[in-house]
Parts: sequence; C-alpha cells; structure tokens
Amino acid sequence: MIILKSPEEIEKIRAANRIVALALESLKEMVKPGITTAELDRAAEEFIVSRGARPSFKGYRGFPASLCISLNEEVVHGIPGRRRLREGDIASLDLGAELDGYYGDAAITVPVGRVSAEATRLMEVTRESLYKGIEKMREGNRLSDVSHAVQSHAEGAGFSVVTDFVGHGVGSSPHEDPQVPNYGSPGQGPVLKRGMVLAIEPMINAGGSDVRVLDDDWTVVTSDGSLSAHFEHSVAVTAGGPDVLSGLPGL
Ligand code: MG
Repeated sequence: MIILKSPEEIEKIRAANRIVALALESLKEMVKPGITTAELDRAAEEFIVSRGARPSFKGYRGFPASLCISLNEEVVHGIPGRRRLREGDIASLDLGAELDGYYGDAAITVPVGRVSAEATRLMEVTRESLYKGIEKMREGNRLSDVSHAVQSHAEGAGFSVVTDFVGHGVGSSPHEDPQVPNYGSPGQGPVLKRGMVLAIEPMINAGGSDVRVLDDDWTVVTSDGSLSAHFEHSVAVTAGGPDVLSGLPGL
C-alpha cells in the first residue's frame, strides 16, 4: 500500500533529508586519498547525532555502520572499515537518518582525487539519470515513467542498469511501497499522486548489469568487475511538481 503524506509530513521528511544532505555535503569534502572508510562513517554518524537525529542504517537488518561506502566495482551496501581511499577510486556514499519519526535517504558518488574519464562519465550519467527520473515525478504520470526515464538515459550513454536492487517509498518507515525499479517500459504501475514520496536511486554499471553479493552478506559488486555508480534523492510529488527533499546545490 502506498502511503500518501500530508504537507506537514512532507516537511518532517524534508527535515530528516536535510540532515542527510548536509552530512553528505560535508563527507564529500573529506573524501581524499588516505582517509579510511571507517573515518567517514564516524563523521557521518557524529554529524547526524549532532543534529538530534539517528543514523537509520545502523542496525537496520543488522547493518553494522551508519554509512554505506561502496568503492569502484562495489554497487551498494559496502561496509566501512580500515580500508583507505586511493587516488583514482570512486566512492558511493549512501546515508539515512531518522528525525522525529520520519526518514531521510540519499546517496552520491564522488571521485577520490583524479579519476579516469570513464569513471567521471559514469558518475555524470548516473546523476543525470536520477534527475531524468525526478523530472517524471508529476501528478498523473505513472511510476514506470520514472523508471523508464532513468533506464533510457543510462543505456543511451552505453551503460547498464542494475535490476536486482530498486528504489522505494520513504516516510515514517525507511522502506515503504512502492518499489521503484530503474528500468521498465513507460505508462505502467501506479499513477503518481500528490503526497507520494519516493527514494529514487539509480545504480548504474559501466559494464554488464549482473551483480553478486560478497561473503560479508552485504557488499554488492558487479559480476564483471566493472565500475558502478549510485545517486539517490528522496522526492515528493507536489502540486507544483517534483520536490527534491534531500536537495542541495551540487548534490
Ligand atoms: Mg534508498
């Protein structure tokens, strides 16, 4: 069941997302060769707690950290640890926070120092794909119009879409209906209505779309070892069009 949110609830979801967005903005500045993924996780947690919120990924289904950090061929759900970022890596940072009973969820992928032209293009196209999907978050459109917009842009650039993991509704639970695939033909699924809030999160691979989960039972990697990027925003359908609740200039 898709839960429609009142304008007051949307403001609460925005408040949680704003903390996530500000945290990601500050983490982006910390991403440099030599820093460990655990240091980034600690900074993320401290930031969220300092704003009176709770890091919502920590303990979720047993996830051991506040921040998911997925490097290079890792797609999502990478676990922070002693690993140090290296020049040329790309790092996906996915973060969630709960404030006053409502959830925020967003992700960015950032370069570590200088990265390859392919990595730069993959990150750009993945972010663009997210915004192509966001543009479809309008009353009267169908859910798969969002999915199709993401897929067309990513595949049009020669990349592939991960189909094993999808976006989701978000509100007073971190994951709600509906699932939001990053692929599909247009004009299918539920009609988008005012008050729907969806976390749209394209995961785009430079190579094939197949992924697998590592022995840690969390980290998802591309099967062919190709690079992967991930961007996510929590977005409300409003009378005035899409409202990016986790939005900040540059994210
Ligand atoms: Mg999400």
